[in-house]
Amino acid sequence: MHLSLAYWLLIGRVSAIALEAVLGARGVIRAHYEWKDTLASLTMRAGNIAVNLLMTGIMFGGLQWAYEHRVISFEMSALAWVVLFVLDDFTYYWFHRISHECRFWWAAHVNHHSSQHYNLSTAARQSWTGILVGTWMPWIPLGFLGFTPTAILAMQSINLFYQFWLHTEAVDRLPGWFEAVFNTPSHHRVHHASNPRYLDRNYAGVLMIWDRWFGTFVVERADDPPRYGILHNIETYNPLRIAFHEWLAMGSEVRRVRSLRGFIGTVFGLPGWRADGSGVTSDSVRAEWRRAMETTA
Ligand SMILES: [Zn+2]
Ligand SMILES: [Zn+2]
Repeated sequence: MHLSLAYWLLIGRVSAIALEAVLGARGVIRAHYEWKDTLASLTMRAGNIAVNLLMTGIMFGGLQWAYEHRVISFEMSALAWVVLFVLDDFTYYWFHRISHECRFWWAAHVNHHSSQHYNLSTAARQSWTGILVGTWMPWIPLGFLGFTPTAILAMQSINLFYQFWLHTEAVDRLPGWFEAVFNTPSHHRVHHASNPRYLDRNYAGVLMIWDRWFGTFVVERADDPPRYGILHNIETYNPLRIAFHEWLAMGSEVRRVRSLRGFIGTVFGLPGWRADGSGVTSDSVRAEWRRAMETTA
């Protein structure tokens, strides 16, 4: 992305965060800020920008390799950009879903979910380790399809930019047709919530249709307000712990496993999985909650 554009977009985002915090503190809009939490989130973004500058070459190189082995060649046209938008958003859905369902990528993504607050600054909690562990690889097929690395990375930036404004409690529900097609603050509040009903749901980037089609869509309910954070909150504002806590936890568990099945399950299984069956996963929490609901019904 052109550097001055990136700079102005950054200034715009920081201004929006400041405005939301001030209006929230004055009770004009619904927004709860805790300065330590916001500082931690902004530090995560600063670290993420630094890591991206250092490592984008890895991602660019991989996408360039795919582009050089493309099966079709075309010039970018308006139609090609529309197709790229849809394919990128579809890829984002699966990247994001795998990031929640496979611990190896969850360890890189969990930092986006570790805040127990939900405001525009939460969007700044971005990964430090994603590029290194290959979370960009789902985009390789787009290179084979003939999209240049520059076009793919530009579309990824547009998608992420769209997602910034979703991180707010100030916007309740938007018109039904918009909520049906697009990702909205309401849908993304569900994604950041640890209520059993909401765990591992609403993975969309821009288009909500993927969650509806692939069975991961849940609507926000007034009688079940989102509780933000993860199943086991880390209770820290230390950016280093926010970035690496799940990697460290995985490392210490791997040292204790004594079988290949245990190793594969601990590293690539559902987050929370344990070889001895004692693990707590999103699925087990949801199943227990359903059982409790049925007994009380
Ligand atoms: Zn997520
Ligand atoms: Zn988010």
